Amino acid sequence: MQTVSRLKLLREAVDDLRASGTIALVPTMGALHEGHLTLMREAKRHAAHVVASIFVNPTQFGPNEDLDAYPRQLAQDQAKLEAEGVALLWAPDVAAMYPDGFATSISVSGVSEGLCGASRPGHFDGVATVVCKLFNQVRPDVALFGEKDWQQLAVIRRMAADLDLTLPCVEKIIGVPTVREEDGLAMSSRNAYLSPGQRASAARLNQAMREAISRIEGGADVAATLGWLESELGAAGFAPVDYVTLADAASLRELSATPTAPARLLVAARMGKTRLIDNMHVDGRAA
Ligand code: AMP
Repeated sequence: MQTVSRLKLLREAVDDLRASGTIALVPTMGALHEGHLTLMREAKRHAAHVVASIFVNPTQFGPNEDLDAYPRQLAQDQAKLEAEGVALLWAPDVAAMYPDGFATSISVSGVSEGLCGASRPGHFDGVATVVCKLFNQVRPDVALFGEKDWQQLAVIRRMAADLDLTLPCVEKIIGVPTVREEDGLAMSSRNAYLSPGQRASAARLNQAMREAISRIEGGADVAATLGWLESELGAAGFAPVDYVTLADAASLRELSATPTAPARLLVAARMGKTRLIDNMHVDGRAA
C-alpha cells in the first residue's frame, strides 16, 4: 500500500489505479477499528481498488471539543489497511487540506440542522466541506460511510445530490451497518477515552435503545418511551443526554407518534467527557 500526503502525488497515484479499474473511497479520521475495516472490506466488493483517507478534520470540531485529544496512530492504521488490501492511503496534513487563504464552506440545510447539528454547531459544515474536497481529490466511483453516523450519511447524500457529484466522481454513496462490540456498544475511536467503569456502563446505551424500539414497535406511546429511555440513560451515568429522538429515517424529521414508515431512533449522550452516539432502525406500522 502506498501512502501519500501531497495532493500532486495523490492525483498521480489515483490516475495509475484508475487505469486498471474502478475506485472506492473510504474517508476516516484514523484510530481504525473493526467498524472502519468492515467499510474497507465492503469497499472491495464495489470497486477494483480501495483508497482510504485519514484526516482528523479540524473544521468539524467545535472550540471545546476533542480535536487535540483525538487519537492519532498512523503506523498502526497503515498496518491494518495494508492487511485489508487497501491500495492507497491519502493522509494529508492540515496545511495540505486547507492551504493559506482557504475560504470556502459547504452548508447543507435541513438534514444537518437538528440532532448533532444542534448540539455541535458548524460540525456538518466541516464534514460536508471536507468530504466534498475528498471526492474532488480522489474522484472515486463509489464512497462508503458508516450508518453509525446516520445524520452524516444523510448530509453527504444530500450534498452529493445537490452539487451533482456524479461520475467520474461519486455516483454511489453506500451506507454500511454499524459494527458493534459484543455487548452492543457501537465501535468508535472515542470508546478508547472511556475508563473501564464507564465502558461497562456505556453498554446500557444500546441495550436500552433496543428495549425502547421494541416498545415503540409494540405500539407504546412514543413520548413516554423516549422519556423512559432518557431516564434509563441518566441512571446508567450518561449526563448530559444531548438528544433522544425518533425520526423519519430519510428526512430525519422528528416523529412524535408511532411511525408509519421506516424510522430511526437516534441518541447522543455523554459518559464523562466522552460523547457517544448511536442509532437503530425502527419498523413503521402499516397505517
Ligand atoms: P470516523 O473515523 O469516526 O470519522 O469514521 C469513518 C467512517 O467509519 C465513517 O463513515 C463512520 O460512519 C464509519 N464508522 C465508524 N464507526 C463505525 C462502526 N462502528 N460501524 C460502521 N461504520 C463505522
